Amino acid sequence: MSETITVVGSLNMDLVVLSPRIPKPGETIIGFEWHTIPGGKGANQAVAASRLGGQVSMVGRVGGDAFAQELLDNLAASGVDYSHVTRDPESATGVALITVDDKGENTIVVASGANKQLLPQDIEAAEGAIAASKTLLLQLESPLETVMHAAQVAQAHGVTVVLNPAPARQLPVELLSLVDVLVPNESETALLTGLPVNSLGAIESAAGALLDKGIGTVILTLGAQGALLADAKGFNLIPAFKVDPVDTTAAGDAFMGAFGVALAEAKPAAEAVRWGNAAGALAAMKLGAQTSLPYREEVETLLEIG
Ligand code: ADP
Repeated sequence: MSETITVVGSLNMDLVVLSPRIPKPGETIIGFEWHTIPGGKGANQAVAASRLGGQVSMVGRVGGDAFAQELLDNLAASGVDYSHVTRDPESATGVALITVDDKGENTIVVASGANKQLLPQDIEAAEGAIAASKTLLLQLESPLETVMHAAQVAQAHGVTVVLNPAPARQLPVELLSLVDVLVPNESETALLTGLPVNSLGAIESAAGALLDKGIGTVILTLGAQGALLADAKGFNLIPAFKVDPVDTTAAGDAFMGAFGVALAEAKPAAEAVRWGNAAGALAAMKLGAQTSLPYREEVETLLEIG
């Protein structure tokens, strides 16, 4: 039986323009094609976990516009239960305006819209789903009080809390004390610790500083270098799979979804990180957020062939 995972977080429609370069302030340039691609860190992680075999419930908010239905249909198509995603007719659905240049660099502006209305009472309404889960996946595109409440409810029910502290921001110790596994990338780690992350030694020191805050397991994702697993057993750098990246959007979300599924299936932490690395590498090989998230068979094949 597939294990249950709840994701509390954002749903956005990504409006992606491919452009020869990123425009300067005040400048207009002619781009190439554009796409509307379902995104939002929360929804990406939910879709990733579901495609990888989890039984996933999403808690979030969308607006009263046409993007809302598209996002919900997309969740359904990937098998995510969206009965705890509320429609808020007064709000606009969250949108991310993304420009990708021909080197794969991007700029992103997110208008959070309905995601800002995700409140602690939405967590109360979803308490049953959270309580029935093995793992709760959280990010920071939702109000902090809501993220905190979700972590509290999960902890009260013995559910493992995994926080991806993205987008980067300082966090209250109260929230960190509720987190079982923290999964930051390099820039989030630098902001959370105030330490440099420019060498393996520095990365280990920064991971150690996060463990010192009382978090049991820290996984630092390092892009093409893979991920560092830090826990009471020490540091374990688990290398990335070698791929030719096309667009790394949602690589971190793919990692979270895969790690969450593996953890819910009681795989050891190092193996769960390998799952995360495989899903992240596969996501980096395709354009867009949810369009790039891999299925279980693809991850299992990459894990086998390396
Ligand atoms: P984020 O997208 O949050 O910044 P990362 O860039 O660290 O996160 O990517 C998350 C994971 O995806 C990495 O730990 C790695 O396993 C995988 N990944 C990302 N970029 C690449 C790449 N260029 N080649 C192989 N794997 C990658």
